[in-house]
Amino acid sequence: MSDFARLTRRKFLVTAGVSAAGAVLLKGCTQPAANTTTDAASPSPVAAGDAPETTRAVLGYLPIAESAPLVIAKEKGFFAKYGMPDVEVVKQANWAGARDNVVIGSQGGGIDGGQWQMPMPHLIHEGIITNGNKVPMAVLCQLNTQGNGIAIAGAHAGQGIALKINDPDYIKEFQSTNGRRFKAAFTFPNANQDFWIRYWFAASGVNPDTDIELLAVPPAETVQGMRNGTMDAFSTGDPWPYRIVNEDIGFMSTLTHEMWEYHPEEYFAMRADWVESNPKATKAILKGIMEAQQWCDDPANRGELVRIVSGRQFFNAPTDVLTPPFEGRYEMGDGKPAFDNINVGPLYWKDPNGNSISYPFKSHDLWFLVESMRWGFHKNVLTDFDAAKRIVDQVNREDLWKEAATEAGFTADIPSSTSRGVETFFDGKRFDPENPQAYLDSLDIKAS
Ligand code: CA
Repeated sequence: MSDFARLTRRKFLVTAGVSAAGAVLLKGCTQPAANTTTDAASPSPVAAGDAPETTRAVLGYLPIAESAPLVIAKEKGFFAKYGMPDVEVVKQANWAGARDNVVIGSQGGGIDGGQWQMPMPHLIHEGIITNGNKVPMAVLCQLNTQGNGIAIAGAHAGQGIALKINDPDYIKEFQSTNGRRFKAAFTFPNANQDFWIRYWFAASGVNPDTDIELLAVPPAETVQGMRNGTMDAFSTGDPWPYRIVNEDIGFMSTLTHEMWEYHPEEYFAMRADWVESNPKATKAILKGIMEAQQWCDDPANRGELVRIVSGRQFFNAPTDVLTPPFEGRYEMGDGKPAFDNINVGPLYWKDPNGNSISYPFKSHDLWFLVESMRWGFHKNVLTDFDAAKRIVDQVNREDLWKEAATEAGFTADIPSSTSRGVETFFDGKRFDPENPQAYLDSLDIKAS
């Protein structure tokens, strides 16, 4: 457990020990939430009889751009506004730590849910990454889109390694000239950053399973390897791209925005038993996150967002490192033009096409599982598309998202379908959720 997690837990125990009147006084110190789209005439959006079953939940997050809605919902008082003043957001050491903590649950000192790469909730639900221990999970909303990219070590500058790899043989034949294979890293296997870099390599004809070495490595170790010449590529997210380019460690070959505009990224999911026991509290948490996402997407709030998340107890990073990605400003390096457009960076509520980001489209859950099938992951569980769809139907609780959005008055932003429709990637490939076989058939490089 991190020092922060310990500190937070101690603080909770202390708070829980004081009288109710004292607790109210303590809460009075927090800043009231800004009133946005809810009924301004109502003193509280929590109607009589709708009080949440509990006011507390413990949610895990990682100190990266994806978690901003969770931190903001806590710090700007949006959880409290919807009747959940005692939600804790607890920094996790890494993805494996978050996974282990959700298996334990908050009653055991872990977490009730939080931020996930995809399809981690589905893999936990099926016991695939929890030693066979199936912990039913509920995907409740998407946290963000974009804000990720693929960094390349500076040693490879000038080789035309961009969105498309100009000379795939430079990478494929790396071993014959360098005595080792081209080495690339992500932070957790079989999830987003693994998928992004696999897709990117394969689109240029590099097989990530046979032509290179691809493995999970902690970020700090990866960046050190890029400095000293033992690591060549890193599938990563904000704020690492800024640091890698600005500290002259390497350059960005691409942003995920270029690979798949407004792609699904990280999600909010909780233990299903918690959701079943606390349906009103679940929706209250969702409403707090939804309002935080709307707040985060207002460019006028990005400066305050950076000031909040940069804090020592949250991302613990300088504001000058965090500001550029939250403004969509990316130096790419290696002679590529920079980006300066807030819509290429992390977005949280609604994309410029008018599609919901927050709503958890089942078609996106399915893509993560179909992409898992592409690479031969979890073959004994993902036996066919019906198996994948069955898992999506069990885990994805878009129904609760819709109920929460309706109750909070965000009705204009509720999608009419559980599918966002056909998705198009930078190499022209298309994923039609109605015909995943056609997508797999269209891909040249995949597990046999
Ligand atoms: Ca990510």
